[in-house]
Amino acid sequence: MQPKDKTKNHQKCGVVYKISCSDCDETYIGETGRTLSYRMRQHASQREPTTAVGEHIGRENHKIKDEEVKVLARESNTWQRKIREAVEIRTHKPEMNKDNGYDLPAIYNNILQQHPQGVGGAHAEGLTSPPLKKASDGQKLRKSYNIQSQQR
Ligand SMILES: [Zn+2]
Repeated sequence: MQPKDKTKNHQKCGVVYKISCSDCDETYIGETGRTLSYRMRQHASQREPTTAVGEHIGRENHKIKDEEVKVLARESNTWQRKIREAVEIRTHKPEMNKDNGYDLPAIYNNILQQHPQGVGGAHAEGLTSPPLKKASDGQKLRKSYNIQSQQR
């Protein structure tokens, strides 16, 4: 298996994925029981009903590049996939998502508070991107760190 082979990832059925807009900082997390490439065609389509991603790129005239799409997890079981999606949405709070996906049982709130970087990230076959990878996130982190050190 070659986990870094994007063509193969796009052909797998049942994925949780993260899309980063190529023209702004907004992101979207979703899941599909179809292949990622099929779902990406739906996102790219401007025909009704449009997806949240389709609305964003249509309204803002932005683009999504294939390399801006990351597979967070592969899961063929629908419920496990929906729970994983909901966990990722609560962890990353992507701007384009209109809801939190599957309504997680309350017990997950405690777990997610204890693991702010997400649950199960290390088990995603190395496909989950490390948190705070974006430069903008790093700057935010440094800013909050500066505030803390000034207070001391
Ligand atoms: Zn955008």
